[in-house]
Amino acid sequence: MFKLPKLDYDFAALEPAIDAETMRIHHDLHHGTYVANLNSALEILKNDQPKLFAEISDYFARSENAALEFILKFQNSPDDLGENAAKILNNAGGHLNHSLFWKMLRAPRENNAPDGEIASAIARDFGNFANFCDQFEAAALGQFGSGWAWLISDPTQRKLEIIAAKNQENPISQGKKALLGLDVWEHAYYLKYQNRRGEYAKNFWSIANWDFANELFAA
Ligand code: MN
Repeated sequence: MFKLPKLDYDFAALEPAIDAETMRIHHDLHHGTYVANLNSALEILKNDQPKLFAEISDYFARSENAALEFILKFQNSPDDLGENAAKILNNAGGHLNHSLFWKMLRAPRENNAPDGEIASAIARDFGNFANFCDQFEAAALGQFGSGWAWLISDPTQRKLEIIAAKNQENPISQGKKALLGLDVWEHAYYLKYQNRRGEYAKNFWSIANWDFANELFAA
């Protein structure tokens, strides 16, 4: 059912911020495993709860992300997903988060900074880009154990906020939209950075895809 998406760039495209070997393992193995585990968990759901499975399939016909967002709203009532709830939620979150993450990155450029609407909103809600970067890095560093730092927006007021989230939680479970995210699971940086998560977070600014953030913000 769900498929591992192809990257829009080569494994080496994000160097030196993220090395090619990390990208290969992260995409092919880690993300690939989330997809495989999600599909096997949904096979069980298909037998146990055919009506709910049919509803997920309807969203899936629209888009993979629509189906994942529908599933992740059950984070607030996991029992409705039955015995396999944790497996479904963890792996649906892993699949959605990584599908977004690859698009939130692009080849490094000098003076990479937001422009357009997202730049104005960052100035409005954080004072300036440097303050925003400091707060985002603090969220990335402060997340204890595995998780993500996210720049999110409130879909009605379009106010920006930075949050840290554990494991594979996605802001959609709280009705918020992710615009930019940094994976701070050790698998995302350990080969190159070992324990230096802060350096990884700093180098993220050279590869943050502000065009995609603007697309998500406008949608
Ligand atoms: Mn990851």
